[in-house]
Amino acid sequence: MTTVAPGLVEYTNIRWNADWCKRCLICVEACPRQALALKDDAIIEVGGCDRTGLCQRICPDLAIEVIKPRTGEERR
Ligand code: SF4
Repeated sequence: MTTVAPGLVEYTNIRWNADWCKRCLICVEACPRQALALKDDAIIEVGGCDRTGLCQRICPDLAIEVIKPRTGEERR
């Protein structure tokens, strides 16, 4: 975990905005790999992320993004 800017946290595969996130847990519940969790009031990456990008697409507050989304080649 790296704080890249105030309120912005970078994990291995995702970047999370603590200021924009309202902790609704939609991303945690939607992740098909159970790669996200809420811990100490922060969304954390717990492992198993395969960069589907679902969290990024589903977050109503644009608070989470996949750092390097998968290419079409990787999806096959
Ligand atoms: S869906 Fe967005 S606002 Fe909701 S917990 Fe996840 S990052 Fe935060």
